[in-house]
Amino acid sequence: MDAEEFRKHGKEMIDFIADHVEGIQQQPIVPNVKPGFLITKLPSRAPTEPESIEKITNDVEQLIIPGMTNWQHPNFHAYFPAGNSYPSILGELMESALGCIGFSWAAAPSCTELEIVVMDWLGKAIGLPEDFLHCSGKGGGVLQGSASESVLVSMLAARHRAFKTHRLSSSTRLVAYCSTLAHSCVEKAASLCNVRLRQLEPDADFGLSGETLRQAIEKDIHDNLIPFFVCATLGTTSICSFDNLPSISDALSSLKGTSETPLNIWLHVDSAYAGNAFICPEFQHLLLDGIEEVDSLEFNANKWLLTNFDCGCMWVRDRLHLEDCLSVDPLYLKHDHQHLTADFRNWGIPLSRRFRSLKLWFVIRRFGLTGLQKHIREQVRLAKKFTKLLQKDTRFEQIGKTRMGLVSFKLKGENELSERLLGVINNSGQLFMVPAKVKQNYVIRFCVCSTSTTNSDIEQAWNVISYHADHVLADEII
Ligand code: PLP
Repeated sequence: MDAEEFRKHGKEMIDFIADHVEGIQQQPIVPNVKPGFLITKLPSRAPTEPESIEKITNDVEQLIIPGMTNWQHPNFHAYFPAGNSYPSILGELMESALGCIGFSWAAAPSCTELEIVVMDWLGKAIGLPEDFLHCSGKGGGVLQGSASESVLVSMLAARHRAFKTHRLSSSTRLVAYCSTLAHSCVEKAASLCNVRLRQLEPDADFGLSGETLRQAIEKDIHDNLIPFFVCATLGTTSICSFDNLPSISDALSSLKGTSETPLNIWLHVDSAYAGNAFICPEFQHLLLDGIEEVDSLEFNANKWLLTNFDCGCMWVRDRLHLEDCLSVDPLYLKHDHQHLTADFRNWGIPLSRRFRSLKLWFVIRRFGLTGLQKHIREQVRLAKKFTKLLQKDTRFEQIGKTRMGLVSFKLKGENELSERLLGVINNSGQLFMVPAKVKQNYVIRFCVCSTSTTNSDIEQAWNVISYHADHVLADEII
């Protein structure tokens, strides 16, 4: 393909994308396909001869799009949002065109420095203490591929520090902690790090308390184990509940060891979804009350900050812990300036890294912080509107509070009723939601996800839920 052909098809493609985005409401939310639908339609071998872009884009329309679950549909209320916006798409396009691999400053100076700048911008925007910023010379932010990666990287750094502090040669005595409502990525990280994980019961408000944590830690110390890592979740996946960060911080502060028996537990905050809201001053206390003991934190701008996947924003208070654990330095990667700046390969797992900060930079500049705050506040408002409709209907109960854009609820009575209700709603194709299990309750999660969801979509969603509840409950009576 030459430049002329690229210009022509590029412009057509932008039109195609804009039409698709603007017409998303006409698409089904969930496709009517079964496993294998695409595999059986595509050739089993790669084409030997070149094909035209027209033919390829035609197949996108005819074969690929019909198999899409449309996360941007205004009636998609499952999981958490998949961030998206035109500025972000343009940033991604530019990133592909620049085509660099940003593992070191020398390999990609602009890629490294823009990441530093943008992570400091965002860190300041969420009110982080100076320690966490690059400009402090101590900590800093880095873009990871996912929240799972951030949790793993912080656990690896914590384990490395514990090995050094306690002169360990194996991880058999190391223990990590989280609540039973923490995301499964904490369990995966513990399994990859080969350490024990205590999944502790949250309190009545569905958050892990400092007291529960303290008791678990003291018991483990008594049993000659070494507590080394805590993951506190601010905004759980099931119901967006918040662990009690101030009391967790207090507990960890009072559990600091002595020079003879050192105890230095790493505190990571996983706020993959809710953390995006900390750009609004009114939500910042949820992070900042208790930040004193936090070593690292993360949220996914690709969830709720209008930025396409992948864009996992992670900050550490002391970058040396990451670099100490994750540095590699073969001759072919060395450069003359490596002690003057960040080489992000030493802050994460992969060597090669995308120029992720470019799309985030486009997004922050095009919307401004006020535009991003407006987006968060609007989705919170819509969730509150949904909550009012829910609370008026005595057949339902809400589980937990409405936090951010998520409302979790069930039909009063046996879990099976809510399970059946969700089944019929999703089968109707009118809405798409997913369930979660919270303290023996089967809950239906309603998350405001799409930027095109409006007041009337929320009212319509409630009518759909209410209509199907009539039928499920009527069947029950018969
Ligand atoms: N933590 C929380 C609280 C989440 O809700 C999620 C995903 O929704 C994750 C971690 C995992 O995120 P990722 O898919 O970026 O690994």
